[in-house]
Amino acid sequence: MRYLVLTDIHGNLEALEAVLEHAAGRQYGAVLVLGDLVGYGADPNLVIERIEALAPAAIVRGNHDKVAAGVEDAEGFNLTARNAVQWTYDALTPEHRAYLRTLPVGPRVVDDLIEICHGTPFDEDAYVFDELDAIRAIEASRRPVCLFGHTHVPLVCARTDDELEVYTLDGDPFTLDIEEGRRYLVNPGSVGQPRDGDPRAAMAIVDTEARRMELIRVPYFVEQAQYKVRAAGLPEVLAKRLALGR
Ligand code: ZN
Repeated sequence: MRYLVLTDIHGNLEALEAVLEHAAGRQYGAVLVLGDLVGYGADPNLVIERIEALAPAAIVRGNHDKVAAGVEDAEGFNLTARNAVQWTYDALTPEHRAYLRTLPVGPRVVDDLIEICHGTPFDEDAYVFDELDAIRAIEASRRPVCLFGHTHVPLVCARTDDELEVYTLDGDPFTLDIEEGRRYLVNPGSVGQPRDGDPRAAMAIVDTEARRMELIRVPYFVEQAQYKVRAAGLPEVLAKRLALGR
């Protein structure tokens, strides 16, 4: 199976549409969504409609999805995130809020090769910040390839017998063969709010037969997404950061 992997879309319709347009030429067979469909961006309803229409083979909820659905309060969110998630809660239709409530808690096993989660396999809300977090995540995963999101920063690392290899993501796209005997932890990067200094939308394609993954960046109409954030009355910093990829 060739999977299109999407995470941290955050209500950014322009970024999602650019990624889907690019992916259409890549003959994927199924979609995996690693959470945070909404929050920060101005189009939560349209993003949910697009994702529902893709009928993902597997999907998990993110922390913003939970709060925007009214499943959890915004405790632990900073002021900007809190303002945005309250705006999102109010903007969502009751049907879309209900859809977010149906999203399953991660991790979810997809097939023999892949497991998905939002933060980590041991805690859906935990962040992978350093090598110890990465090792812990890999050891908690039930599959050789663990796909995650939440940090909005692309990462590919692998555990061999006694060490962790963190790959340099060179090449555009970055491609990697999935080797037997290795256990991988992979964040494709965020579709709708990248934070690695590259403002382009991020996506991945993982081919389980060819045992190959690609981390791909796609330019999109950033100014349009920024315009909508400002027109919605969302915090200005959320518009600014889209152009910076921070
Ligand atoms: Zn996120």
